[in-house]
Amino acid sequence: MRNYDNSRKLFKRASRVIPGGVNSPVRAFRAVGGNPLFIERAKGSRIFDADGNSYIDYVLSWGPMILGHANPVVLAALKKALAKGTSYGAPTALEIELAELVLKIYPSMDKVRMVNSGTEATMSAIRVARGFTGRDKIIKFEGCYHGHADGLLVKAGSGAATFGVPDSPGVPESYARNTVTLPFNDIPALKKTIEKQWREIACVIIEPVVGNIGCVLPRPGYLEALRKLTKAHGIVLIFDEVMTGFRVAFGGAQARYGIKPDMTCLGKVIGGGLPVGAYGGRKEIMSMVSPEGPVYQAGTLSGNPLAMTAGITTIKELSKAGAYRDLEKKASQLERGLKDAAKRAGVRTRFYRAGSMFCTYFAGAEIVDYQTAKSADATLFARFFTAMLQRGVNIAPSQFEAGFMSLAHSEKDIEQTVASAYDVLKKL
Ligand SMILES: *Cc1c(COP(=O)(O)O)cnc(C)c1O
Repeated sequence: MRNYDNSRKLFKRASRVIPGGVNSPVRAFRAVGGNPLFIERAKGSRIFDADGNSYIDYVLSWGPMILGHANPVVLAALKKALAKGTSYGAPTALEIELAELVLKIYPSMDKVRMVNSGTEATMSAIRVARGFTGRDKIIKFEGCYHGHADGLLVKAGSGAATFGVPDSPGVPESYARNTVTLPFNDIPALKKTIEKQWREIACVIIEPVVGNIGCVLPRPGYLEALRKLTKAHGIVLIFDEVMTGFRVAFGGAQARYGIKPDMTCLGKVIGGGLPVGAYGGRKEIMSMVSPEGPVYQAGTLSGNPLAMTAGITTIKELSKAGAYRDLEKKASQLERGLKDAAKRAGVRTRFYRAGSMFCTYFAGAEIVDYQTAKSADATLFARFFTAMLQRGVNIAPSQFEAGFMSLAHSEKDIEQTVASAYDVLKKL
């Protein structure tokens, strides 16, 4: 048995000074039971906890570490940047370099603004969309997470076009009222709502592949229908590619599925492990942003030189020939292995994958939206999770989170993961 004594002690100490002992809720292992691991260091495909245990890591800091942990090229660039100072609050050439890279890889954007998190990116994009259209309402989808800004912490009301109900105390009902929530992958519901309420709707924000309830793929034709409907009614279409950007393809979901949104939000991979987010879009829309236009948005540390350096270096590494072919190869090896292990063990699972993000659901039915995702057996997942951790494999501590592959994972890592999964699954 692995020993978690030091992590347990640290968690106790943390819980005295930090709400729930963590700085982001899902880290606390509440969905799976037990104490969170406190991490001491990470390298390549592995993380090491405070008790000296090592794990093959499929969380990858929730997505950013696509090159693997402590990538030597990124570290070298950071060391060089560090010596020049850590923040100036004035423009740098690095910001232009990252912006130019992003616009080249995401041609739907003419201009992009750097911020410090995915939450800031989506919150700001929505403000700009409202300023641009002069409309107040937004449409989001059940199960899609866009960060923790007030108007986005809203889940479904009953029925398609009902007014939003806040998910969290502290979110005024008056904010939630401007959020309309619809089921993902449901064209008739979307069509009905847009045709009825379009005059009030500023934007539709969507995770084109829903990574925050596992990994839910868009049905063929769904994103196309969304694009057509929003365009026809002057509604700004925002792709929240904070997770899918540089992940499901170099050019994100918009490249993978061939859809051109009006605005795009990025985060996670774009910061290469440092805090970065970005939002951008068509020229007319982005011209609304202060100081070019009247929509205010700012940040003391936005465009931070260390963060820009990590982002630029990560994207340049990813742009090398064969990087995405390699990610695809590794992720499909894991897919084949896990599907086969479940079959041999006689456990019903559903595996979904888009590029190097994926999810195994403990479910029998197809997962197409929030409702069907909820059919997954979270208790069985919790047992799977705990046993995998004991065998040195770190997956996200919730059935409703995506897993990620990095370029640093080796064939042997994947074989070991699959062998552990088979061992665990056959005892479930
Ligand atoms: C992670 C995530 C966010 C929030 O980003 P933070 O950096 O955690 O604020 C927003 N949207 C999506 C799709 C995400 O996966």
